[in-house]
Amino acid sequence: MPMFEGKSVLVLGGSRGIGAAIVRRFVADGARVTFTYSGSPDAARALAAETGSTAVQTDSSDRDAVIARVRDSGPLDVLVVNAGIAIFGDALEQDPDAVDRLFRINVQSPYHASVEAARRMPPGGRIIVIGSVNGDRMPVPGMASYALSKSALQGMARGLARDFGPRGITINVVQPGPVDTDANPEDGPMRELMHSFMAIKRHGRPEEVAGMVAWLAGPEAGFVTGAMHTIDGAFGA
Ligand code: NDP
Repeated sequence: MPMFEGKSVLVLGGSRGIGAAIVRRFVADGARVTFTYSGSPDAARALAAETGSTAVQTDSSDRDAVIARVRDSGPLDVLVVNAGIAIFGDALEQDPDAVDRLFRINVQSPYHASVEAARRMPPGGRIIVIGSVNGDRMPVPGMASYALSKSALQGMARGLARDFGPRGITINVVQPGPVDTDANPEDGPMRELMHSFMAIKRHGRPEEVAGMVAWLAGPEAGFVTGAMHTIDGAFGA
């Protein structure tokens, strides 16, 4: 029997990149998958048609919309919070509204989605949030808001693990290093600099991150919670 046969999975931010690989992985392993998207309806429709998953538009910068989406998805076996953005540039020149939007998507939404999911999750439920190795190491200027947001997820997971443990629910953070997506293409201008920090001198593949997410959601990971799981080619080592 496929590992996630009969399981209900919601992926927040699943239309492209790492999120799309996570959707494909859970579908391949037998789950019933719903994913959200915001700005990429064509990619979302194509992925839904390809996989038989369900695409729903929900902007992760809208707290109440995210809470309603999680609530209306019914009891979930697995919640994956993948949606995330980065903004680049001199902190002294960044638009504060853009910074606050990043915090809403990268921090507020994961927190409120996780809490809302835990209300209805059965024992054995799994929450997995996509952080970043930049939560541990930020070796370049211009990305402090992003690093802050990914570090915040660490405290969130440690704290919510305590709240959710008695309910039989785990929560973990997966922390990728550079992964080849639209947000960080391997053939982009930062390639050499990023690879210079790494022991394995290539970008990761979205499927590699999805594999770690699937393990954390699976039966072997029931004792793993409140923890960060870095998959980064030793970017942060
Ligand atoms: P992409 O930009 O390639 O994809 C981002 C995904 O998140 C898209 O499906 C996008 O949907 C969704 N998303 C973004 N904003 C919103 C929003 N407001 N509401 C709903 N969905 C949204 O990014 P990656 O796949 O590279 O990154 C995915 C996650 O992995 C992020 O949390 C990122 O921080 C993290 N990460 C990525 C790394 C990398 O090198 N690629 C490294 C470390 C961490 P849509 O287009 O429909 O809006």
